[in-house]
Parts: sequence; C-alpha cells; structure tokens
Amino acid sequence: TEPLIRIEKLVKEFKAQSPGPDGQPGVVKAVNQISLQIQKGETYGLVGESGCGKSTTGRMILRLIEPTRGDIFYKGNKLNDLREEDMRKMRQEMQIVFQDPYSSLNPRKRIGNAIQEPMSIFNVGHKKERKERVLELLSKVGLHPEQYDRYPHEFSGGQRQRIVLARALAVNPQFIVCDEPVSALDVSIQSQIINLFLQLKKDYALTYLFIAHDLSVVRHISDRIGVMYLGNLVEEAETDALFANPLHPYTKALLSAVPVPNPEAKRERIILTGETPSPLNPPQGCVFHTRCPAAKPTCSHAIPQAVRIAHNQWVSCHLYS
Ligand code: SF4
Ligand code: MG
Repeated sequence: TEPLIRIEKLVKEFKAQSPGPDGQPGVVKAVNQISLQIQKGETYGLVGESGCGKSTTGRMILRLIEPTRGDIFYKGNKLNDLREEDMRKMRQEMQIVFQDPYSSLNPRKRIGNAIQEPMSIFNVGHKKERKERVLELLSKVGLHPEQYDRYPHEFSGGQRQRIVLARALAVNPQFIVCDEPVSALDVSIQSQIINLFLQLKKDYALTYLFIAHDLSVVRHISDRIGVMYLGNLVEEAETDALFANPLHPYTKALLSAVPVPNPEAKRERIILTGETPSPLNPPQGCVFHTRCPAAKPTCSHAIPQAVRIAHNQWVSCHLYS
C-alpha cells in the first residue's frame, strides 16, 4: 500500500555566506538525496547531531522549505508542484511541533485563543464548536479546561509544549513533524511529554516523523529509526533491530552513548574524534570517513551505496558491500 509519506532523493542546497574551497560562491548541501517512507500510523524517528539536516528534511516534507531537487508524496499525491491553494488542504492535515515551546507561543495571547487559531485559519467549525474542541484538547493534553484564559507565562516549559501540541491537533491533522519537541525540556519531564505524544497518537490515529539528536529519546516512541550524518541518511532499521544490532559505525557510536539500565549489558563508549566536517566542504567518498574508527582506504574516495541487510534494515557503508 502507498505510504502516508514518501520522499524520493530529496536534496536541499543553500547558498553559503562564505566562498567554497575553490573560491567560487559556496553551496551547502544540507540534505543529500534522502529517500524514506512513513506508513500510516507509524512513528519514524530521525536521529543525528545538530546541523545534520534532519530539521531541514522535516520542513521540506511540509514545504516550509522548498527542496532543491527530489520529490515529496503525501498519500501518493506529489506535493512539489502543488499551488499554494492546493497545498492549503494538505497543510491542515500536516502539522509541525517545534523544539522551543517558549518562542512557539505568542506571550500576549490567551492559550485558549492560541489553540483555536488554526481552526480560524483553516475555517474549521463554528465558534461554539471551536471552543468545545479547545476544551476537549486541553484535557487531552493533560491541562485543565479552566486554564483556557491563562497566558503562556503562567505555564512551565512542559505545559507549554502540551499547549503547542493541543494547537497542532486543533485542525485534526493526520501527520505531525515533531522537531525535537522535548530537547528544550528538563530531562525529568521529557518522558512525560513523550508518553503524551504516544497517547495522542493512539487517540487520534496520528503518524509522526519524530526528530531528535539523541537515540534514547526516540527509542520508546519510534517504530523505525533513520540515522543521519552530514546531510545523508546512513542507516535505517526497525527500532529493536537498530538497538540490538547497529550496523553503521556512526550508529554504533551514537548508541554507545545511550545509558543502559543493565550495567552488564553496557557497551563500550565509542568516542568520536575530530570535528564534524563543514557541509560547505564535505569529505569525498564516505562523508563519515574523517571520523570513522573503521575507515579503510576505499572510504576516502568511494561513496558507499545503500545495502539491504535484512527485510527492514539497510546501511550505507563499505564494510557491508
Ligand atoms: Fe566508516 Fe568506511 Fe563505513 Fe564510511 S564507509 S562508515 S568510513 S567504514
Ligand atoms: Mg534542528
């Protein structure tokens, strides 16, 4: 069956502020030929360090950023060339939740009105229905209907992210890009908010692209995980398979940093040396070769192709080809 989301060889290049290595105007390859699919009802975790292109990928799916090349399909409909008015209907079904719940809310707007706003924008429901929907959403996200008239500053960071979620849900979306929605929150409340995402997914039959820089954050929410490095998707697997048997040396390093409850199962921490190269001047061959503990001579000139290892796991690395 057609996946809810399908992206094909998505590329985003930005003009750089500084000239490239050849002195010509530089081009930053923020996202390099990413293809992935997300089934309806699935949560796809997209992981990698900051600046690796995961947010750009999420935004391109919603066309908040226009891709340089490549295709985006939603329910089989190609979104690339849709005119803004046709895109509008899609936008109602596809929402985004950003990392920072502080800047996501207008400080002068009562939260009930903020949650209601997308319904006015998309012309959903009458005044009374809108208010009822907001009250229902407030309790769905674990807030009190009496808090309708309060202002954002009266809430904690976690509560504000609940408000932002209620607002994203107001127009009954099917797909939500969750762009590091817990990264700005205290570790102590991150799992509460992740559990809320899980609960809402069940209640409203949602599909998520869940972006994080930390594998431990996506572990409990994702069905499958894609790992990005310097604009490239380097490995993709079902969550259990990825944790049990990470293949790519970068995935192994990320995973070695995840705390494990059972100390006997502790993996040796792999510390990567060297800086992440600039996307303005990415390494030839495998983009990870300048930091890879397993690099061999071929890696510095030959680009590794994706190799399918199991039904639901593939990796781009010469160790497997
Ligand atoms: Fe490391 Fe080579 Fe694999 Fe790249 S292709 S991850 S450099 S072993
Ligand atoms: Mg980001």
